[in-house]
Amino acid sequence: MAYEKIDAVIVGAGASGSVFASVLTRAAKKVVLLDNGPDWQLTDLISSDIWGRRVKPAGAPVLLEGNHPFAAYTNQAGWGVGGAALHYFANFPRYLPNDFKINSEHNRAHDWPISYEDIAPFYDRVAVDVGVSGDAQAEEKWRPAGASYPMPPMKTFPNGEVWLKAAETNGIRFVPGAVGMSSTAYRGRPACMYDGWCHVGCPIGALANPVVTYLSEARKAGAEVRALCTATRVLSNQEGTRATGVEYYDANRQRQVQEASVVILAAWSAQNPRLLLNSVTDKHPKGLANSNELVGKFMMVHHIAGTWALFDEDITPHMGTVGAQFMSYDRYIKTSYPGAFGSSFIVTGAAMKTNDYAAARADLFGPELAAFMKRAARGITRITFFGEELPRLENRVELASDKDEFGMPLARLIHGFDDDALALWNANFEQGMKVAKATTATTAWPGKPPFVPAAHLHGGAIMGTGPENSVTNSYGQTHEIANLWMAGPCIFPTEGASNPTYTIFAVSLRGAEYLAQNWGTVAG
Ligand SMILES: Cc1cc2nc3c(=O)[nH]c(=O)nc-3n(C[C@H](O)[C@H](O)[C@H](O)COP(=O)(O)OP(=O)(O)OC[C@H]3O[C@@H](n4cnc5c(N)ncnc54)[C@H](O)[C@@H]3O)c2cc1C
Ligand code: SF4
Repeated sequence: MAYEKIDAVIVGAGASGSVFASVLTRAAKKVVLLDNGPDWQLTDLISSDIWGRRVKPAGAPVLLEGNHPFAAYTNQAGWGVGGAALHYFANFPRYLPNDFKINSEHNRAHDWPISYEDIAPFYDRVAVDVGVSGDAQAEEKWRPAGASYPMPPMKTFPNGEVWLKAAETNGIRFVPGAVGMSSTAYRGRPACMYDGWCHVGCPIGALANPVVTYLSEARKAGAEVRALCTATRVLSNQEGTRATGVEYYDANRQRQVQEASVVILAAWSAQNPRLLLNSVTDKHPKGLANSNELVGKFMMVHHIAGTWALFDEDITPHMGTVGAQFMSYDRYIKTSYPGAFGSSFIVTGAAMKTNDYAAARADLFGPELAAFMKRAARGITRITFFGEELPRLENRVELASDKDEFGMPLARLIHGFDDDALALWNANFEQGMKVAKATTATTAWPGKPPFVPAAHLHGGAIMGTGPENSVTNSYGQTHEIANLWMAGPCIFPTEGASNPTYTIFAVSLRGAEYLAQNWGTVAG
């Protein structure tokens, strides 16, 4: 069956794709979203670590290579409608002004082509659109003033509170975590009940996932979602000047083409460059938007340093949400530690489950593990530092010679941390131990496995001032093909240390509105 040409086809119905769909349908555009996973509904979300695996990624693997392969890829990638944000932890810190100008301030990496002030109004609007809880004024000790969040902070519990005094004595001031969760009933969604199952998706809709926020609006306004549809290539015209649509394989493994005036890739950081690289033509022998060979380059992740503490008293480790009760930017200045470079963002007070307790002491077995688990169930907690790595050309996505079931080459994600990133990771452990030792915990230890834990993939199609330094402009429009757009963290030129999704929503809202306002010139 041949589909009619539409206004916009969006690949990926996750966080960024949903924002584009919402804005474009509001502008009366005919929009289709393709997603390679199922069309998840809230009723599919079951609060169980075993059942929760159903919403975890499936599909073609990504080959993980390099000195520090991004082993968390499968745990971090989204699969199905809602994307990874269907079951994220919804920590919603902003980037700070210093993130946008590392090059000007430190002569390293890249500046963003925009400043904090360009994004700030979109942060305030996203907070209202999706429902953020927190204390914006308390955060303003680190950033310029903005609007209040629409809901007050979430409840706190002893597993978060036990860190506060000890952190303060180490110069780390905690404020209530900003989270995409409902502390009160909000826009028809109920308040959170603090059972800590966010990581497998919140069945009551208290978590601000795309299915209950932007995507729900888009669907009401007429967006069509085609689930179990895997995009394999962006198609372009004979002259190589325009994207004409997307080739994909539907739920019956049949090849289909969706023609559109505008193509938006919102399939997350590894898959977006994979699609561009696989879209070769004689006019684009290196892949689309890749004359400068920057597609797939500058991949970045946050390294994670988690320090554990065990208390004798019952600090209710299971209570709360999987997001943070408290957060701090007091190590966000890029030169916070001598001998290391980059920002760190600090959180504490995440609710834990049995497997988290076990993972805290992976060296224990049998009776020793059982005894530890008994104590941990009442007394364990963690302080976590997310750390920044700077963009480097050698951290990249390439096409492999192995192919998936549709004949599309798999992605190779090659990643290694440099000395600066490793120094920052180690400094964050030292800092975490100092704080832990200043609490009343009986024992504290760094959660340092024989690899560097990491999360949040960024880069692969970064934004910049022109084709000499980037793939897209600040709105996500590719420099080479005016009607081909990229959405999500793939366009971030640096990654800060804050969890990215609040910024993904804000940058996507800015890009989508620019596209809607300039539709005539972009869509042709
Ligand atoms: C467990 C977990 C916890 C997290 N916690 C936080 C947090 O606390 N705070 C935070 O800021 N971020 C968090 N994140 C990260 C956050 O979810 C992502 O940053 C965000 O979802 C990325 O948005 P996106 O639109 O780029 O991709 P996604 O939301 O993942 O959407 C991409 C979509 O593209 C689809 N897709 C991929 N390839 C194709 C293809 N070829 N054809 C069709 N469809 C395709 C996928 O199925 C997916 O639905 C967490 C993620 C996970 C998994
Ligand atoms: S803790 Fe709150 S947001 Fe998380 S799953 Fe439970 S009700 Fe939903």
